[in-house]
Amino acid sequence: MTSRGQRQLRQDIITTCQQMNALGINQGTSGNVSVRTDGGFLITPSGMPYDAMKPEQVVEMDLDGGYYGEFLPSSEWRMHFDIYRNRSEAGAVVHTHATFCTALSCLHENIPAFHYMIAVSGGTDIRCADYATFGTQSLSENMLEALEGRTACLLANHGMICFGPNLKKALWLATEVETLARQYWYARQVGAPALLDEAEVQTVLERFKTYGKQTQDLASGDALAVTPPPRRDAPRKVAARKKLAKSKAKSKAKSTGRRRVS
Ligand SMILES: [Zn+2]
Repeated sequence: MTSRGQRQLRQDIITTCQQMNALGINQGTSGNVSVRTDGGFLITPSGMPYDAMKPEQVVEMDLDGGYYGEFLPSSEWRMHFDIYRNRSEAGAVVHTHATFCTALSCLHENIPAFHYMIAVSGGTDIRCADYATFGTQSLSENMLEALEGRTACLLANHGMICFGPNLKKALWLATEVETLARQYWYARQVGAPALLDEAEVQTVLERFKTYGKQTQDLASGDALAVTPPPRRDAPRKVAARKKLAKSKAKSKAKSTGRRRVS
């Protein structure tokens, strides 16, 4: 990776931290963010306010658990490190003390399939990892177990953690999981929510493979998650559109030219 590319990633980490707080899904500097690089990952430094953080203060770590530079990595570096070591699909990790995730984590219960969006984390529920002291290897191991087949989990009496292919997707997932936690919390205030059965969540998981995609983004053999309404106009090819625009511009130039001559 070029040094310019790394500097951009360092800046992206700071931006993600600021967005995390602006979105209201984190408390103070308790959250931490990291992104995978060629030989390891970049992670937020320990205890530094996000608004004062400079790109050079973001800490570089390798996949043997060592770090470079003057600044200590986040006290939760082990969780980030273990995700990158064990989940090859992880490109970025977001850990926060989001209020509703944290409140639910104190019940030591999984969030069940009360809403079909539960499938965003890849399974039929969002598990809660067993409690262990912050910053310990035990916490990291409990987290890995709760993340099996999932991309997000609660951490008992602590908060939540999730990962995605990049920082944008990881932040998006953290926001979705906090929204689910809030909705589930409210539903629980007035009764026992009716849950979707296993077969229904499997159907949703299948549909999620193409959820939110446009027709042109589909791989061959894939179908849209939901049958779209019938299209009334005939789709025009991009090349045809370009050709039309070019010929329009040409004729406009010609007519302008004629006017000038006369
Ligand atoms: Zn934490």
